[in-house]
Amino acid sequence: PTKFDGLEVGFDVPALPGMDEADIQTPCLVLDLDALERNIKKMGDYAAAHGMRHRVHGKMHKSVDVAKLQESLGGACGVCCQKVSEAEVFARGGIKDVLVSNQVRDPAKIDRLARIPKFGARAICCVDDVANVADLSAAAVKHGTQIECLVEIDCGAGRCGVTTTPAVVEIAKAIDAAEGLKFAGIQAYQGAMQHMDSYEERKAKVDISIAMVRDAVEGLKAEGLDCDIVGGGGTGSYYFESNSGVYNELQCGSYAFMDADYGRILDKDGKRIDQGEWENALFLLTSVMSHAKADKAIVDAGLKAQSVDSGLPFIYGRDDVKYVKCSDEHGVVADPDAVLKVGDKLKLVPGHCDPTCNVHDWYVGVRGGKVETLWPVSARGKAY
Ligand code: PLP
Ligand code: MN
Repeated sequence: PTKFDGLEVGFDVPALPGMDEADIQTPCLVLDLDALERNIKKMGDYAAAHGMRHRVHGKMHKSVDVAKLQESLGGACGVCCQKVSEAEVFARGGIKDVLVSNQVRDPAKIDRLARIPKFGARAICCVDDVANVADLSAAAVKHGTQIECLVEIDCGAGRCGVTTTPAVVEIAKAIDAAEGLKFAGIQAYQGAMQHMDSYEERKAKVDISIAMVRDAVEGLKAEGLDCDIVGGGGTGSYYFESNSGVYNELQCGSYAFMDADYGRILDKDGKRIDQGEWENALFLLTSVMSHAKADKAIVDAGLKAQSVDSGLPFIYGRDDVKYVKCSDEHGVVADPDAVLKVGDKLKLVPGHCDPTCNVHDWYVGVRGGKVETLWPVSARGKAY
């Protein structure tokens, strides 16, 4: 018996291991395993060569299997995620070092966070308010566990986090003094610049973040508080944090899969990052189901199969046809030369990988034209 016994293709799962790629049921997510492995290894090697740990961002893929590959092949030290329920999935799945790179304020969520070490994992969260410290501490004491806390700095994203070194120091001291908690360092992710096209513009933004973080680290040191973790950095910025001399952990997510919106940003030589730096490893496989109009094909991947918040997908490897519009269940592909026919499959590169993966149950891992593996989107629906 195998774990896929009894699962029906086209109902429970889009494919089964051993099948031909051509027989996969659509729409579904397909991973090019060779490209995925190369991306993971490349980022792991970069981090290691720069003396950085890499705590991969699991909210991108929500997959225990991908996270484990990032540990084994990319030397990842653990995962980040954004929700306590996601953290539980990773901890239960065997990831030993889990950071909720977010604020945890709701009492029920704090209680669940405090129980994560019972699954055998280190549990870390972010704090941007001294008022949170007593609640986190009480929950850790109640469960006889330890929660490690990073003070979050808003270094430009305009979301959670404090903006001055005195505020960082005040919160860090409160964490350090609280029973059941451990002050572990700083969270400083600049999320607002990752998708800027220009390398120089991204650099200018991260230079500001780095100066803020350096000031905070020095302010903490002056109070006798050392940072085990100084974390941040994403696919559009990891080289800046790696060369900063102050960050020691990266948190990249999208690099592993790539998407259309990230692909168009430019590297330092002015080249798109999906044309050399990273490979497209994630595809939304779709089939043509109608060609009743001469100049357009209708495919089976619409809004319910992908997120279009960052733009429409592009069709991988084709410039003769273009995905131009989508509604709930349909995608419209402009086909001016009528080259497509019903049943043809197209590989879409989704506009935005994270929210696209979030609406699927499975990844179909493909190599050499065959389905090699099926991985569940383990933390799908874990939005709490
Ligand atoms: N760190 C945090 C806290 C994030 O929210 C994100 C993504 O939004 C990332 C890191 C990096 O992800 P990516 O590499 O996809 O930009
Ligand atoms: Mn994203």
